[in-house]
Amino acid sequence: MKVLVTGGAGFIGSHTCLSLLEKGYEVVVIDSFVNSHKKSLKRVIDILKLNKNINNVNIEIMELDIRNENALDKLFFEYQSNGNSIDAVIHLAGLKSVKDSLLNPLTYWDVNVNGSINLLKVMNRYKCRTIVFSSSATIYGISSNESLKENAEIKPINPYGRNKVAIEDLLNDTFFSDKNEWKIANLRYFNPIGAHPSGIIGEDPMDVPNNVFPYITRVAAGILDKLTIFGNDWPTLDGTAIRDYIHVMDLAEGHIAALNKLIECDHQIMNINLGTGIATSVLELVETFERVNSIKVPFEFADRRLGDSCKVIADNSLALSFLAWSPKRDLEEMCVDGWKWQLLNPTGYK
Ligand code: UDP
Repeated sequence: MKVLVTGGAGFIGSHTCLSLLEKGYEVVVIDSFVNSHKKSLKRVIDILKLNKNINNVNIEIMELDIRNENALDKLFFEYQSNGNSIDAVIHLAGLKSVKDSLLNPLTYWDVNVNGSINLLKVMNRYKCRTIVFSSSATIYGISSNESLKENAEIKPINPYGRNKVAIEDLLNDTFFSDKNEWKIANLRYFNPIGAHPSGIIGEDPMDVPNNVFPYITRVAAGILDKLTIFGNDWPTLDGTAIRDYIHVMDLAEGHIAALNKLIECDHQIMNINLGTGIATSVLELVETFERVNSIKVPFEFADRRLGDSCKVIADNSLALSFLAWSPKRDLEEMCVDGWKWQLLNPTGYK
């Protein structure tokens, strides 16, 4: 089974490629490398050779921007002509900074939405109609105290979130245009953190991180002075905001579970939350990180960040029952593995 992974060199992509290869899938990666590193996939190959004694790692890597429809067409054409067609796509390619999306909405809509339209056009042309899409919990409206089910209100508040909704809508329309052909899974990620336990691959933001976990690892490493915690006046036990952190390897395995489900099931479209369902405040995250790694993370409190929610937690019961997937790594493992990656790679992949 040959799987095309768009954006396969990124944080989620590299870990997902590793899981796919471990499970015996043939992998083709396309990536523009504008917000990812070529080295990440070389490291994936290293892990497989070192840890698993797999010498013939079945991965091909190409630099390709999903906005380039001709190049996408050529790729699908060449595999098909060689009798080695692409069977399914895991679509992770896209720009992912909420902040940046507010400054550059046109670029975000172009890369994320036009890129996805191109991909779907080409997939349709070559009758490759199985796709797992990386959606996000950012599409949900400000949540109440309850954990979020997949049918919760969809109300994104920034261009990045609206791009994700637009792509889900696009996939939905595509599915209903030909219900007997398409198999689609929209995976709504909560907060992926951590790294592969080897510390060989991990998250390497191009800039100063916007997300809390890579910020914490950089503060612990002394690269950044201190963490700014946005808000200590939220209506939570310790006043800091609550999220559902999920180990990136659990998230990667969620993609394989979704892909397997699509392969075995009838044509359908599914929206599935990938989270642990466990609530962790920013202070709890910092305290856990400090305790398991015996290191200090200096922090200060500041005002709430614009657009933040108090609590974003997954109801993951659908993933548990339908995908037969469950998250296996706890917050301590996320903190240990993320710190190992930082320690072994003080300058990331550079
Ligand atoms: N956060 C923080 N300091 C930072 C970055 C984030 O206190 O430097 C908080 C943020 O306000 C939120 C939580 O950490 O409550 C998770 O933020 P992140 O940006 O990682 O994810 P998201 O907001 O998308 O859930």
